[in-house]
Amino acid sequence: MIDDIARLPTADLAADVCVVGAGPAGITLALELARRRPDWRVLLLEGGGRSTPDERELELYRAEVGPQRYAIEASRRRMLGGTSGHWGGWCKPFDATDFEVPSAWSTPGWPFGPETIAPYLDAAHRWLEIPATDYDVAALSQRHPGACLALPDDAAVAQRLFRFSPPTRFGTRYEDDLHRQSNLTCLLHANLVALRREGDRIVSATVKPLDGATRTVRATQFVLALGGLETTRHLLNLRGAGSDDGVGLHSPHLGRGFADHYGVRPGLLLAPAGLRYGRFGDDGVPVMPVLAPHADRIRDGSFQNVCMMLDPQPKPEPLLARYGGQRALGFSPGEYWHYAVQAIVEPRPHEDSRVTLVDERCALGLRRLRLDWHLHESDIASALAFFDETGRTLARLGLGRSRRTVQDSPALRAGVLGANHHLGTVRFARDERDGVADPHGRIFDLSNLHVASSALFPRHGYSNPTLTLVALSVRMAERLAGQTAGETA
Ligand SMILES: Cc1cc2nc3c(=O)[nH]c(=O)nc-3n(C[C@H](O)[C@H](O)[C@H](O)COP(=O)(O)OP(=O)(O)OC[C@H]3O[C@@H](n4cnc5c(N)ncnc54)[C@H](O)[C@@H]3O)c2cc1C
Repeated sequence: MIDDIARLPTADLAADVCVVGAGPAGITLALELARRRPDWRVLLLEGGGRSTPDERELELYRAEVGPQRYAIEASRRRMLGGTSGHWGGWCKPFDATDFEVPSAWSTPGWPFGPETIAPYLDAAHRWLEIPATDYDVAALSQRHPGACLALPDDAAVAQRLFRFSPPTRFGTRYEDDLHRQSNLTCLLHANLVALRREGDRIVSATVKPLDGATRTVRATQFVLALGGLETTRHLLNLRGAGSDDGVGLHSPHLGRGFADHYGVRPGLLLAPAGLRYGRFGDDGVPVMPVLAPHADRIRDGSFQNVCMMLDPQPKPEPLLARYGGQRALGFSPGEYWHYAVQAIVEPRPHEDSRVTLVDERCALGLRRLRLDWHLHESDIASALAFFDETGRTLARLGLGRSRRTVQDSPALRAGVLGANHHLGTVRFARDERDGVADPHGRIFDLSNLHVASSALFPRHGYSNPTLTLVALSVRMAERLAGQTAGETA
C-alpha cells in the first residue's frame, strides 16, 4: 500500500523493518524484503511525494559547497523513486581491479571481492530492466565487425562494456508493486527528522510531513537509504556534538572520502574508420564499448582505472596532416577518422574530501551539509597518461596516433564537474578502525542500523554505481530476511 503520512491518524507506527528513502536502493530493498518475509511488516518512508519536488522541498537540500564547484542540489531528487527520476541509466559492474587497493594508497578497499556481489547481479539487471547480463566485448566484436579495435591480449589498452537501463524510473515503474504488496506500507511526505538511540540500538525514528504532526516509528531494524549525501547527513546529525575518534557513528571516517566520477577531454585519436566506442544498438539493445587500462597495468601501478569513449569527428584532416603524408603513413582519410576522446576518471579517495554539518538548519530542523570536494593530483594525470599510452599502443600496432589538446592544470581541475554519484562517506570495511559500517552495511557501534547507499563504496573505478548499489540492496534483503522472527518482532 502507498499512502500519505498526513492522511494517517497521529498514532505511533510499528514495523519489523523500517527502510527510509524510496530511491532505487530503498524500493529494491523494501520489496525484496517484503516478498521474502510475508510474515513481516515492512515500512518504507519517503520524504517526497509522487511529483516533482516543490520549492520548499528543494530548499531542504540546500548546502554549502567549496572550493571545487558541485551541483549539490540538482544531483538528487526528493520524490518517490528518488534520483532515478532523472538518472541516465548507464550501468556496468565494477572491474575486478576496483576491489583491490594499490599499495601506494592509504585508504582501505572493498571489504570483499567481486564474487560477493556476483550472485546478486542478475537480480539487479532485472530491477533495472537491462535485458542482457554479459559484458563480453569479444562476443560483441564478432557481431559487429570493425566496431572495436583488434587489440592483442597483452596490450596496455583493454576493452570493457557498458549496458543501459531504459532508464528505470523507480517511482513510476514500481508504484503498482508497492501498492500490491500487502505486508508493505510506503508512506509519502514522511521525512525522517531524528533517530532515538538506546545503548547499541535505534529504538525509534521521528518522522513528519513538512506541515503536520510528528509520528514515532518503532521497528526492530532500521535501514537508511537516503542517498549518498542525506544518509551521511543523518548519521552526522545523530552523532551530534560527540567526538569523532571512536567507532561507527563516532568513526573519524564518517563524512570523509567523498568522491564522484567526472570526465575530461584529453584530445584526439586517429584510428580506423567506423569504430564504435559510443552508445549503439546491439540487436536493439543499447551497449557501449570503452577503452580502459589492462588489469595488469592497473595492478603494476602504471595507471588508475579510467575509461575512454570515442566521438567520431566530421573532419579528419587536421590530425592526418599533422602526421604529414597521409598515404605514406597509410592513414588515408577514407579509412581513418579522428575521434574526440572523453575519459571518465577514477577518483582516488581523498580523506580531506568530506561532508560536514554547518550550524544553519533546514525546515525539518536538521543541520545543513557542507561539501568540500578535493581531487588527488594523481587522478587526472593518470587519465592523461593512459590517453598517451593509448596513442603509443595504436602507433605500435600501426593503427593510429593520438594528439593531446589539454594539459593537466589547475584550470582543468577547477572546471571539473561531478557525475552526481555520491560515493565514499560511510565507507564499509572489515575492521571498525577502517570504516563506518561492517561489510553488510551495519553501522559498527549499532546492532540494528544499516545503510543501503553508494556512500558505502570505498573504491570507485569509473563504473556508474547504481547497478552495484541495487545488487547490494538485494544482498541486504536476503541477509535481513534470513534473521529469525525473534530477532525482529
Ligand atoms: C543527472 C543524474 C544522472 C545520473 N546518471 C546515472 C547513471 O547513468 N548511472 C548510474 O549508475 N547512476 C546515475 N546517477 C546516480 C543515481 O541516480 C544514484 O546512484 C541513485 O539514484 C542512488 O539511489 P539511492 O536510492 O541510494 O538514492 P536516491 O535515488 O537519491 O534516493 C534517496 C531517497 O531518499 C529520500 N529522502 C531523502 N531524505 C529523506 C528524509 N529525511 N526522509 C525520508 N526520505 C528522504 C529521497 O526523497 C529519495 O527518494 C545519476 C544521477 C543524476 C542526478
